[in-house]
Amino acid sequence: TEACLRAIDGADQLNAFVHKTPDLALERAKAADARISEGDAPAMCGIPVGIKDLFCTEGVASQAASGILKGFRPEYESTVSGQLRDAGAVMLGKLNMDEFAMGSSNETSVYGNAVNPWKVDGRDLTPGGSSGGSAAAVAADLCLAATGTDTGGSIRQPAAFTGTVGIKPTYGRCSRWGIVAFASSLDQAGPMTKTVRDAAIMLQAMCGHDPKDSTSADLPVPDFESMLTGDIRGKKIGIPREYQIDGMPTEIAALWAQGADMLRDAGAEIVDISLPHTKYALPAYYVIAPAEASSNLARYDGVRYGHRAKLAAGDGITQMYEKTRAEGFGAEVQRRVMIGTYVLSAGFYDAYYNRARKVRSLIKRDFDTVFADGIDAILTPATPSAAFGLGEMANADPVQMYLNDVFTVTVNLAGLPGIALPAGLDAQGLPLGLQLIGRPWEEGELLKTAHVLE
Ligand code: GLN
Repeated sequence: TEACLRAIDGADQLNAFVHKTPDLALERAKAADARISEGDAPAMCGIPVGIKDLFCTEGVASQAASGILKGFRPEYESTVSGQLRDAGAVMLGKLNMDEFAMGSSNETSVYGNAVNPWKVDGRDLTPGGSSGGSAAAVAADLCLAATGTDTGGSIRQPAAFTGTVGIKPTYGRCSRWGIVAFASSLDQAGPMTKTVRDAAIMLQAMCGHDPKDSTSADLPVPDFESMLTGDIRGKKIGIPREYQIDGMPTEIAALWAQGADMLRDAGAEIVDISLPHTKYALPAYYVIAPAEASSNLARYDGVRYGHRAKLAAGDGITQMYEKTRAEGFGAEVQRRVMIGTYVLSAGFYDAYYNRARKVRSLIKRDFDTVFADGIDAILTPATPSAAFGLGEMANADPVQMYLNDVFTVTVNLAGLPGIALPAGLDAQGLPLGLQLIGRPWEEGELLKTAHVLE
């Protein structure tokens, strides 16, 4: 913990930790030491971790990287961070992210962007988003692991951009209670770590049934680490042809083929598969996610949390709402709220929101069909490119940024587990990631397969 706290203080230029909690960390580290010497310590006991700013942490600023939650200190702890705390993990502080987890580059954060520790010619690159602070902190050895959340790729894309491992569990595996909601039918928490083994250990501590989240699954949690046997003989791995998108860099295509070869060499069977509705996933996601966000973000009204605008004489409650939300929300969040209210409005509900929900069912059915045909896991690239330069995309058409999520959003729409892990470097020396998608509730099998690719 002391070494991590020193590393954090020496890495302010990465802007990964946005609230540091050194005193709390040292106190918890001492308690963990005591537990370890008593011989009753779970695997996470004493492990210094970072917590994404989206998680409510008791008495510690939790702002979802938004101006509207400025000064918000929850009186409660999210279930997932509470489980980690109870397992003895030591929180070092809160990690940067895109505002309300909306973004793919960490540039929508009210704290300014986090920076990727990987560089090309000294140029600053994005660590990805929205869990960019988590990815940067793990990659730069500021903590041993971090929490992330993934609504459309926000664990997997930053993992790929920083050469780290990130798993989004099956929807319902980790409780969403106490995590600031973005799109409730898609949001999942998960670990971001250096290795697949670490991800297995940390995931174990994060998941489990929680009566406070009605979508949390009441299922036993397997011992994930014990499943990393290296034996994947007989597994059928699908390669979906629809993920061979136009303009894919040859290096990504080559690493994808190399990943398939590694799995074949380990005794898996590689099968060409089709997920025909893949091309509709991005448009469906960018209707459903903003729709749910516009509803979830209605609670930030200047009364219940954080920021309230200064009012002029004669201003009523409507002006209070309007001014507070105009000041408190950044441009991307405002865009999402506007898109969301539009697609949910009486005149357009059927044309957009209902249509997107139908597309979502078809996407899920594509996966159900290949799994019913005996496919155990699906191998794809994690992202369509390596980390891009800060500022490079932020001023472009927002749809350019949304295209980053082309390989990740299908997994959230279908509620499946997906893991991103380092696959190799591109010609510039930047990390590239592969993604494995698994059957629902089979995170253990997914981790086992991913472990073979390490
Ligand atoms: N980049 C996607 C978005 O902006 C995904 C975000 C996420 O997974 N939280 O919506």
